[in-house]
Amino acid sequence: MDFSSLGLSPSLLQALADQNYNRPYPIQKEVIPAILNGKDVLGIGPTGSGKTAGYVLPVLMNLRNNTTSKNRHVNVLVLVPTRELAMQVREVFRLFGSALPERIKSLAVFGGVAINPQMKALQGVNILVATPGRLLELVESNAVKLSNIETLILDEADKMLNLGFKEEMNRIFALLPKKRQNLLFSATLNDDVTNIKQIILRDPLVVKI
Ligand code: AMP
Repeated sequence: MDFSSLGLSPSLLQALADQNYNRPYPIQKEVIPAILNGKDVLGIGPTGSGKTAGYVLPVLMNLRNNTTSKNRHVNVLVLVPTRELAMQVREVFRLFGSALPERIKSLAVFGGVAINPQMKALQGVNILVATPGRLLELVESNAVKLSNIETLILDEADKMLNLGFKEEMNRIFALLPKKRQNLLFSATLNDDVTNIKQIILRDPLVVKI
């Protein structure tokens, strides 16, 4: 089985071929059609399974019909625990997003660096990849608005909770519109992750990797 039966556009299929992604990994076979259908997803398993492309590709497809980002309103929010992961995930969005005819703008923001350049760069962003603390600082400065979020993705949720971001995460959830798609990825399903799952996921597809 190759990628062509999963519902992705010809331009994304070409980009996959260019990257030598010849066959979908098991998690990708399951989650890509589900995310295209608007379903919530819970993915449990270690990194290295291909989960990033598993959500990046269908999220880009879903965004194609609605690429207008009004001023500082972002459409897709990816919460991650670290700067490294923020940059990696943003790079995958940039790579595959640049293959689409629509102009889709992505940005990574994280703490430990100056906030001003991030505030300026937030104009017209569709996909924001963020660590929780810095995201809240940017929200408080009105540099970004979360009321138009269509898709929320939590990547490495257990690590985010282990790093003590629980309160920040809950504050962020309270700022999001009720009607949205939610994708939760975690290496483990501990009590804290189960709690987040109960708060944000509606009838999810559960994938164990
Ligand atoms: P991830 O688990 O998302 O960090 O991905 C692990 C690695 O697998 C990354 O280096 C990806 O570029 C690569 N990768 C993801 N999906 C595929 C695929 N279907 N075929 C080949 N490589 C892939």
